[in-house]
Order: sequence, then structure tokens, then C-alpha cells
Amino acid sequence: MRIVVAGAGPAGLYCAYRIKKRRPEIEIAIFEQNPRDATFGFGVVFSDRALEFLGADDPETLLAIVPHLELWNDITVVHRGQSIVIDGIGFAAIGRLKLLSILQTRLQSVGVAPQYNHLIRRIEELGPADLVIAADGANSFVRSAFEAAFGTGTTLLSNRFAWFGTRRRFETLTQTFRQNELGHFNAHHYRFAPDMSTFIVEVDAETFARANFSDMPEDEARAVCERVFEQDLGGEKLVSNRSIWRRFPNVRNRKWSHGHYVLVGDALRTAHFSIGSGTRLALEDVIALERSLHETGYDIPAALEAYEAARRPIVEKLLEAADSSARWYERFAEHMALEPMEFAMSYIKRSGRVDLVLLVGQGEIKGRPAPCPLPAGEGVQRRDSRCVSHSSRLRGQSRFNSRDNARSAKRRPSVWQVAQ
Ligand SMILES: Cc1cc2nc3c(=O)[nH]c(=O)nc-3n(C[C@H](O)[C@H](O)[C@H](O)COP(=O)(O)OP(=O)(O)OC[C@H]3O[C@@H](n4cnc5c(N)ncnc54)[C@H](O)[C@@H]3O)c2cc1C
Repeated sequence: MRIVVAGAGPAGLYCAYRIKKRRPEIEIAIFEQNPRDATFGFGVVFSDRALEFLGADDPETLLAIVPHLELWNDITVVHRGQSIVIDGIGFAAIGRLKLLSILQTRLQSVGVAPQYNHLIRRIEELGPADLVIAADGANSFVRSAFEAAFGTGTTLLSNRFAWFGTRRRFETLTQTFRQNELGHFNAHHYRFAPDMSTFIVEVDAETFARANFSDMPEDEARAVCERVFEQDLGGEKLVSNRSIWRRFPNVRNRKWSHGHYVLVGDALRTAHFSIGSGTRLALEDVIALERSLHETGYDIPAALEAYEAARRPIVEKLLEAADSSARWYERFAEHMALEPMEFAMSYIKRSGRVDLVLLVGQGEIKGRPAPCPLPAGEGVQRRDSRCVSHSSRLRGQSRFNSRDNARSAKRRPSVWQVAQ
């Protein structure tokens, strides 16, 4: 059997790894247009529960990722110069390039080498295949070759965003909102390494037009953003990596497979980055796909049907939350008319996922307890289903202690305001 994987992002690499690990006799070819060490963007964030699924059946991969995670507990919303800290949800972040390099090493360990610098321009270039897995991202070439059969619909959101990095370290996932003569600006920022943070700047369509960003060279636009967020950057610069203004594409498909072509990850659907779930969804897709292949004995039509049947309800639920969050961002300029505390409440309720946060009493925001995503052992202790690790593999004890810190902080109100 020969399986071709298009794209060596998180979905493609992890899919090839899982298939080859369980079925070493299967021939796998994986094509990637970029060089091995290239990527777009900077770090990605997950809720710390998002990695639970890896702990359950692939602890080796999880343990390879864990030492590189930055962990913290809180979200901060900054509006009109006031910081409102929302306690208790729990996050983990990693550099996208680091994640790719870990997955590349896992794939190498089962003897598969992706073909880098190999842009697929024609379907025929994939060669003969029993199964083609389209893991080639939001603009999937494979998907677009069969767009009518997949029933693809892509809607571009009206806001513009540019994905920067910065050396400024942030202690929480922070959503900063600023207003000036050009209009309304939002930054989603969090650290993904001890000395590096993601800094995504988002503007509404009016601000984009008023600032004349469409005609502005990349460096100039970066300088404008640095001025807007000067106070938040604390003197640090923004770092570019193809950080051009883009509109987020909401990709949906009526069918998940067509013949022996199947969609996974962003090729299948995108989830707005404000809920930080795209990478996790991509990894979960390929776990579900590999499981269906295995359980049906690689009967491809049966496996693809089982994959969609098992996964679609879960994905659709999450997409409702992602779409609801995206709608809130599309109107963030209007929401900025709210007072800081009301604004923070509006932000936290935006995805409609009340299971993510429980509102307890007046003005108090608490997260529900998040169980430890790691299996016990290998330097990881579980305490009350939470993680405490003292493993030398984890750089710095505080990593898994953030929940304990948060617990000791419970004596103060869960939401507190700090004048900047
Ligand atoms: C601004 C922004 C912020 C985000 N933040 C987060 C976050 O915090 N947390 C999170 O979980 N997710 C986040 N995401 C989403 C996340 O990046 C994606 O969901 C995830 O990368 C999907 O993985 P994938 O493997 O399906 O696709 P991709 O990562 O897009 O990988 C697809 C691969 O296919 C290759 N490819 C494409 N076409 C071809 C071709 N014709 N030939 C050969 N190779 C090809 C590409 O080069 C790429 O390497 C964010 C996205 C954006 C835009």
C-alpha cells in the first residue's frame, strides 16, 4: 500500500508518523513546498487541556513536546489602559518551528523523510496512491483540485491581521486593545519561549483603510504597529516573518473525502485563531483518521466514512465556538465603547463556551479545573489531577507550578484590576 501526504505542517507530519509507527510496511511519501526549517508565524497557544489527547495514547510525543512548553494560568485583557486579569483557565504555548522540528524527529524515528522544497503543482505529481491525505493547509492545492466534490466554501473575514513576534516576554495570554487617531487596534500576545512571544496585531476594515495599510511597505506598517503598542512592547521591536496583512479565511467542506482523497487539518477547516485550537484540531483529525484506517483494516472507503462520522460532531461543536469568537472580533471596535470590566466580561463570554469558564458570583471569573495533560511517571507527578513536575527535563520548576500559584492566589479576588 502507498499513502501520499501533501504538506508537512503539524497535520501531515503527525499523520505520517502515526501510520508508519503502527504499520511499518506501508510506503509513505510526504511532500512539502518549503525547506525543512521554514515556517510562517511564530508560536501557537493551546489550552493546557488541549494536550490531554496526546497523553492518552502517545505519551512519547507528548514528553518530547513538554520541555518546550511555556505554561501559565491567566488571561489579561487590557482596555483603556486598565489590565483585567482573568484567573484560572490554563495555557500552554510552543514555537511553531519547534513543534515542527519535534514532529520531524518523531517521523524520522520511524524511517520517513519528507521531501522538502517540493511544491505540488499538479495532482499527477503525487504518483500512484491508495490514499492521498491532503494536509496542505488552508489554501490546499489538493482540495482545490476537487473543490466541487468536497463542496468547499471559503469566507474571508473583514478584519486584517499581521502575525509578528517580539522579544518582549509576557506573563499571561494578553489581549490588548488600543485606540488612536487611526482607529482601533487589538494585539493577541503571549510568550512561546522564555525570550520570545507571539504578537498578532488585528485591525478592523475601517482602521485598515484609514491607516492606508494596503499601500504601505511591510516595514512601515510594522513601525506603525510598534508605535500603537509602544507601552505594551516596553521598548522591544516587532519581529517580522512574512508578517503581511491578511484576512482570515473561514474554510468549510460539505464532504471530508472524495474517492481516495481525504482532508485533514486546515485543509479541512480553519478555526479562528482567537480560540487557539487549529493545531490541536489538526492533530486530533489525524489521530481519528489513523484510528479509522487501523480499525477497518485499511479498507479505505470504510475508513474515510468512519473518520468523518466519528469526528464531524466534535469538530462542528468547536467550530461554533470559533465562529462565535470570530464574530466578536469582527466587532471589537464597537465593543471598545464598553467600560473595561464590562468589556472583559464580553470578551470572556464571546465564544459562548460556558463550559470553558464558569462565572461565579458578581464580577468573579474562574476557570474550571483542568486535569493534568500528562501521564504520571517520567518526572511528572499528578496531584489532585493537576500537574506538578520536578523533572530535570522541564526547564524551571515554575512551569507546572502555575496552578499551585494560582491556587494560593485564590485568597485575593479572582478578577482584579491594575491601573497601568
Ligand atoms: C494568525 C494565526 C494564529 C494562529 N494561532 C494559533 C494558535 O495559537 N494555536 C493553534 O492551535 N493554532 C493556531 N493557528 C492555526 C494553526 O496555525 C493551524 O490550524 C495549523 O497550522 C494547521 O496545521 P496543518 O498541518 O493542517 O496546516 P499548515 O500548518 O498550514 O501546514 C500545511 C503545509 O502544507 C504545505 N503546502 C501547502 N501547499 C502545498 C503544495 N502545493 N505543495 C507542497 N506543500 C504544500 C505548507 O507549506 C505547509 O507546510 C493560527 C493561525 C493563524 C493564521
